[in-house]
Amino acid sequence: MSPDPIAEGVLMVDAGTTQNFSSLLRENRVFAPNAEFAAKAHVKSEAEYEAMYRKSVEEPEAFWGEAAGELEWFEPWETVLEGTFPEPKWFVGGKLNLSHNCVDRHALGARRDAVALLWEGEPGEIRKITYGELLVEVQKFANVLKGLGVQRGDRVAIYMGMCPELAIALLACARIGAIHSVVFGGFAAHAISDRVNDSGCVVVLTQDTSHRRGSEIRLKAIVDEAMEKCSTVRNVVVFQRSGSPVNMVPGRDLWWHEEIAKASATCEPEWMDAEDPLFILYTSGTTGKPKGLVHTTGGYSVGTYLTTKYVFDLRDEDVYWCTADIGWITGHSYVVYGPLQCGATVLLYEGAPNWPENDRFWKIVDAHKVSVFYTAPTAIRAFIKWGDQYVKGHSLDSLRLLGTVGEPINPEAWMWFYQEIGKERCPIVDTYWQTETGMHMIAPVPGAVATKPGSATKPFFGVVAEVVTKEGELVPLGQGGLLVVRKPWPAMARTIYGDHARFVEAYFSEVPGSYFAGDGARRDEDGYFWLMGRVDDVINVSGHRLGTMEIESALVAHAKVAEAAVVGRPDEMKGQAIAAFVTLEEGNEPSEALKQELRQWVAKEIGALARPDDLRFTQMLPKTRSGKIMRRLLRELATTGTVSGDTTTLEDFGVLAKLKDGEE
Ligand code: ATP
Ligand code: MG
Repeated sequence: MSPDPIAEGVLMVDAGTTQNFSSLLRENRVFAPNAEFAAKAHVKSEAEYEAMYRKSVEEPEAFWGEAAGELEWFEPWETVLEGTFPEPKWFVGGKLNLSHNCVDRHALGARRDAVALLWEGEPGEIRKITYGELLVEVQKFANVLKGLGVQRGDRVAIYMGMCPELAIALLACARIGAIHSVVFGGFAAHAISDRVNDSGCVVVLTQDTSHRRGSEIRLKAIVDEAMEKCSTVRNVVVFQRSGSPVNMVPGRDLWWHEEIAKASATCEPEWMDAEDPLFILYTSGTTGKPKGLVHTTGGYSVGTYLTTKYVFDLRDEDVYWCTADIGWITGHSYVVYGPLQCGATVLLYEGAPNWPENDRFWKIVDAHKVSVFYTAPTAIRAFIKWGDQYVKGHSLDSLRLLGTVGEPINPEAWMWFYQEIGKERCPIVDTYWQTETGMHMIAPVPGAVATKPGSATKPFFGVVAEVVTKEGELVPLGQGGLLVVRKPWPAMARTIYGDHARFVEAYFSEVPGSYFAGDGARRDEDGYFWLMGRVDDVINVSGHRLGTMEIESALVAHAKVAEAAVVGRPDEMKGQAIAAFVTLEEGNEPSEALKQELRQWVAKEIGALARPDDLRFTQMLPKTRSGKIMRRLLRELATTGTVSGDTTTLEDFGVLAKLKDGEE
């Protein structure tokens, strides 16, 4: 493990090169917005998108001011934007509360009796909470926190499973100005104690157990273990999900339901300054030790609201389902804050996609008439691997829009999603963004922008994205380079908790005057962005710098391949050799012949330069808990035969053991 976390992650770019990289993949399919969809959409044509985009970048203050005006403010801002990178301030002087905009605004308006949270437990229970009811629950729990002495600016850790109370916990913190720090409910005790201690949390919210793939995850017991190392925590509040026995520490631990029963149902929202911190969230840890990003109230509210409105094209009658856990930024921005600000009906599902069968998601879509479905490429590749028979027999005709996030989506996975799930009727929004960006950065506005499989398409309104060299020079269209953002946007993180110098160093020092968080991309002749993979995963073969995405996509395009990860390992002749790790679709067996066939296939698809030197079959790839491939572990494995890097966020340690044993 590196002793210096600053050195990890975003800055592992080879020194001394111009940072352009070669692009091999050609993907020519284009899907124009479906006319029926476009007719009802918020933005109906490409010309309309272009005009709005132009205004948003030429007059950002007017554009974002107008967007902010769609929310309720207790006091108006004086200036929309003050200063620039790395310390911009948005909506200076404005006062608002995000829980008010998510809940009160709808509960006291036309959406009072509309369902806000529609929850399905893994064992099959269903709960529906209207906006009116949500307002009561949030106020009560906000009072519980106040009763425990939690004050504005205090940090509260949340370690829960996917249930309505988790969303209520976030909203209650936001209501009283406490800064929440959600720790994904699948992490081990040390991940909780590290995060709790990093920000000095005073209270931890958890639950007895949560259901996952037919078993119970004992969240409270894991918190107990973590608390042995946490001296700042005064209380642990425990939501009773299953009734399974837990150990309650007298004087420290309290039952959620007992506290709620005593709490008053009125709690006026704090008037938060636009720049007051809202939450801390640690990144996924794909490239190294997670960083505790801090998001603030005003800009984050406006950014998540507007992207939800336009990218998901949300309307009141939608049943919106984002399958991400609330423990990730996607869950913060697009399970809780974005859709609730829009007044949507948000579906929450507690458990695994393959419980009790591989078709659970499609059952949920049909049962609740889900219309907008947002998931990750890793899930789509799993569906493909399991086979189409799990999709057949479900109508899926309530769906009208699909989305993906988390990794570049391989064009063939995109096509499968489009045809098998969307029935060629639903546009797909491939949304590129990060924990740091808070909101979508590159994503199609679906009624207006044509899509291309594997491209996140065009920047969202107000986002000035470019592909440049390390010196900040534009690279020619078609060539790969560093993806940067040139101008501040409202939802950007403001700092890394407790370490502003690291924030400035990590994101604003690599390319002068720009935000750079580590991804490579190219733009095509239509101005579309194609994410090519992380810059620190780039493979340098005989002087050609290749992104991982294109070689992986070529492998995934083979009918027998479900998933692929490629990494570079040192090679005396070529600089680096390409090592590929491949999982096969169900019903296919690894063989030497298939190995050679796949190597040839890549050479034929995108060129001999990209032909993998080594190719190994594996049952699974090492991934973060959020489902991203951890190439750095594979790189280490391919290079040294072992792995010693930070594996805190690795999903399944068994995968590493099997890979080390050379499983085929
Ligand atoms: P860490 O920064 O700790 O290594 P992480 O980058 O995986 O972890 P996140 O903020 O959750 O943490 O993920 C953002 C990253 O995910 C992006 O920088 C990009 O590499 C990838 N990503 C997300 N969405 C897309 C997308 N639609 N297309 C391509 N890549 C994406
Ligand atoms: Mg990152």
